[in-house]
Amino acid sequence: MASENNEARSEEMRRKIALVTGITGQDGSYLTEFLLEKGYEVHGLIRRSSNFNTQRINHIYIDPHNADKALMKLHYADLSDASSLRRWIDVIKPDEVYNLAAQSHVAVSFEIPDYTADVVATGALRLLEAVRSHTVDSGRTVKYYQAGSSEMFGATPPPQAETTPFHPRSPYAASKSLRIGTPLTTARPTSPRRGENFVTRKITRALGRIKVGLQRKLFLGNLQASRDWGFAGDYVEAMWMMLQQDKADDYVVATEESHTVEEFLEVSFGYLGLNWKDHVEIDKRYFRPSEVDNLKGDASKAKEVLGWKPKVGFEKLVKMMVDEDLALAKREKVLVDAGYMDAQQQP
Ligand code: NAP
Repeated sequence: MASENNEARSEEMRRKIALVTGITGQDGSYLTEFLLEKGYEVHGLIRRSSNFNTQRINHIYIDPHNADKALMKLHYADLSDASSLRRWIDVIKPDEVYNLAAQSHVAVSFEIPDYTADVVATGALRLLEAVRSHTVDSGRTVKYYQAGSSEMFGATPPPQAETTPFHPRSPYAASKSLRIGTPLTTARPTSPRRGENFVTRKITRALGRIKVGLQRKLFLGNLQASRDWGFAGDYVEAMWMMLQQDKADDYVVATEESHTVEEFLEVSFGYLGLNWKDHVEIDKRYFRPSEVDNLKGDASKAKEVLGWKPKVGFEKLVKMMVDEDLALAKREKVLVDAGYMDAQQQP
């Protein structure tokens, strides 16, 4: 009895272990910061690339030679490689698995649909199977988080809640819509760490460069597309909260406000005293073969069950992104003026 109590106590005191796929991505980097802050040991799966792809997590990386301080550990694996997933789950023995890895770009998914489905749909299945077979063999319990996407609702009119039918309009959204009994979260996080070819970041990145004189024009597609953008840093808290529940379930995480790309332009350019109409041109190449008009989530369930709510609103988010990208453009300008960097041939 005494030894059982001791075991239970040491289990309670043990540092929790999380496995994060997509750790080098926008949401993965915020989630890792959040989990480290909570005292977790975080293992990230990274894929091999010819250039280092760890820019978003370099600031929290500690060399593994500092064994007691290095609580974020990176391992090579790929969602297209089932054996690597199973091996790392057996070695790491995570308490929680967060599957954030994806070919996450909607427009690109029309160019590489086969690969998108393989990584997003089949990749999730590979990871789930690795978790399932690990739990069966080891008798352990592992909690699993699957990132869905607001794009799964596609053409279904807003507001979109957990019971709203999916109507995907792209290979990416169709791949995310694969249901394998796993609860999903659907959200639309953005931040200063968003990839530069996603519209919000594309705007703030170009705006910073326009402001310092490195660029004059910005080419965009459909300005009337309306999205429920929230801060990725807020959304990762909801991910963690979901895995602290006893019962797995679906959640829509959203700000419950929808804004068009044009509104994003108004707020961001206006913040730096510029008129977006002087700089933005429409390029039909950026229109998608099938558009999603309006996404606006209903996050009542996440608020009620998890006690989650967003802290950063639309204007604050836009300004946060503009501030970071203006600072980045200023650093670029110094390097360009000193001849250490090409200005990049942007019109
Ligand atoms: P992101 O910035 O594009 O990051 C994607 C991550 O997945 C990166 O770490 C990427 O690695 C990794 N990855 C891609 N292919 C992989 C593969 N074959 N094997 C292993 N890793 C691979 O995406 P995010 O914005 O952080 O989004 C996180 C998750 O939420 C994704 O599943 C996304 O679809 C979903 N989601 C995001 C949003 C949003 O608006 N942010 C909205 C809805 C859903 P590299 O760094 O090497 O490329």
